[in-house]
Amino acid sequence: MNVLVINCGSSSLKYQVIHSDSEEVLAKGICERIGIDGRLVYQPKDGEKEVTEAAMPTHTEAVRMVLEALVNPRTGVLKSLDEINAVGHRLVHGGEKFAASTLLTEEVIQAVEECSDLAPLHNPANLIGVRACQEVLKDVPMVAVFDTAFHQTMPKEAYLYGIPYEYYEKYKVRKYGFHGTSHSYVSKRAAELLNKPYDDLKTIVCHLGNGASICAVKNGKSVDTSMGLTPLEGLVMGTRSGDIDPSAIEFLAKKENLDMAGIMNILNKESGVYGLSGISSDFRDLEAASNEGNERAAAAREVFCYRTAKYVGSYAAAMNGVDAICFTAGVGENDGKVREMICSYLGYLGIRLDSEANQKRGEEVMLSTPDSKVAVMLIPTNEELAICRETVAIVG
Ligand code: AMP
Repeated sequence: MNVLVINCGSSSLKYQVIHSDSEEVLAKGICERIGIDGRLVYQPKDGEKEVTEAAMPTHTEAVRMVLEALVNPRTGVLKSLDEINAVGHRLVHGGEKFAASTLLTEEVIQAVEECSDLAPLHNPANLIGVRACQEVLKDVPMVAVFDTAFHQTMPKEAYLYGIPYEYYEKYKVRKYGFHGTSHSYVSKRAAELLNKPYDDLKTIVCHLGNGASICAVKNGKSVDTSMGLTPLEGLVMGTRSGDIDPSAIEFLAKKENLDMAGIMNILNKESGVYGLSGISSDFRDLEAASNEGNERAAAAREVFCYRTAKYVGSYAAAMNGVDAICFTAGVGENDGKVREMICSYLGYLGIRLDSEANQKRGEEVMLSTPDSKVAVMLIPTNEELAICRETVAIVG
């Protein structure tokens, strides 16, 4: 079966076509600047990457262009659109309604719309992608795969905030967590690589990218995670603050004469390692700057690593132990120094890092020594493949 995997943002649409038996990526790419001017990047499995500038007033034109590229007689990877058997859509927020992936029906779309005030930037954009695909691929079954679904197994003590209970009852204000597809994929892969049963393993997954979150996975279930009602909570990220004292919001609003939108913009877009360093949200830039003696860049990395290590410690406590710690996503897969700095706080868990293995990047590697009490692993995430597998499980 060929699955078209779609990850749709407000002005972009990432796609992959995956053959589900071989799990081979037949083609992938992105439409960017939708509604502005439009740019299609198309990369077939055995061919050159192509970049085409073309008008894409809406996501519907973007989907049409992707499909045209896929069946192009010269560079396409499909003979006809009939070879697309299913579409898997990444949807960000499923609220409490969706604890698993589901077939996309009108009812489901409505329920996702109802969750939109929990993710006003993401859900409407995701649904635009769904509608655009429905318009063009009329009879192809589509599946919704939610970022929040994996975390619906969290117990009350992990997901309730210490605020009046009526706000949970009335508005469903609680921790939801994100990156669920990645946390699920990586924790399953860790069990496979360790040759241990997934439902008998305590794993902490550190998804460290521009957005970053940690998840405690006990016996195959998410029991806690660092992102919350929104992706702003938890770790210090590329440009997001992560946890801060809520009173700092009022304090800053008064001092800087800012309204709530202004404050949220600072916490989401101008904070994190970018705000701390004043240089960049990219860890490659931070490393280069700190090597040149820039103290704020060095401090930004230290704050990031310290916060991450504190969460690892708290999740080891929450699970009463930990068997494996996994690093994934852009920073986790590529930045050995950051992994080393995080692990330097974790000696009390009996962790011993293999410094030679820790030089590796972007491949599955055991990073700990054989005598380490906890396995430390580098496992590149693959959210598209996970979405493909979920789609096949439902449509297949
Ligand atoms: P993601 O959000 O998972 O795509 O991660 C993107 C982030 O990964 C970038 O902003 C960088 O901070 C980081 N990153 C990517 N490549 C490297 C690298 N080679 N070394 C260090 N950090 C990297």
